Amino acid sequence: MKIGVLAIQGDVREHVHHTEAAGAEAVLVRLPRDLEDTDGLIIPGGESTTIGMLMAEYGLIEAILQRTRAGTYPIYGTCAGLILLAKEVIGFSPARLGLVDIDASRNAYGRQIASFEVALDIPVLGPQPFPAVFIRAPKIQRLGPSVTPLAWHHGDVVMAEAGPYLVSSFHPEMSPDLRIHQYFLEKVKKLHEVAGVS
Ligand code: GLN
Repeated sequence: MKIGVLAIQGDVREHVHHTEAAGAEAVLVRLPRDLEDTDGLIIPGGESTTIGMLMAEYGLIEAILQRTRAGTYPIYGTCAGLILLAKEVIGFSPARLGLVDIDASRNAYGRQIASFEVALDIPVLGPQPFPAVFIRAPKIQRLGPSVTPLAWHHGDVVMAEAGPYLVSSFHPEMSPDLRIHQYFLEKVKKLHEVAGVS
């Protein structure tokens, strides 16, 4: 299985490491042609404005949207990646994919200095809490009916999925725990089985 890691800016190396440790091959995606034989895509955290602007400039927004047309191309967006997948972004709105029916607000947990780690209960991963790192994280302010919440922090949804898409406000690649990457790889595998794609 080949998973693309959008390699424009942000935590690319850490996602590559976790993807490979979880058992897939990671492919760096900088240009539309890099998507070619990927089975899914991870959009790392970083700065959503910068990532979105460069994605648009390199033709990646169009290429990814094309790729998702059949509804069987899984994408996992973490932090800035969540913003880039959100249908609406409140306030300052970057160029993005808009594939997930959520409204997000940027930097909703405060500045860099207000970063924190919390042991998060994520039922789909089993009973063991997940060490979730929040860095200038976005908040999901609205979830559409197609979106299933997977984890909460103080009443706010911080991880969710909608069909082939997965989003989290926090950074799973910043802790040694591989379970979210494994969960995403399982999702990719299942979708490809259903779609009859090898
Ligand atoms: N605050 C950043 C943004 O708005 C996201 C932060 C992150 O990805 N760690 O794009």
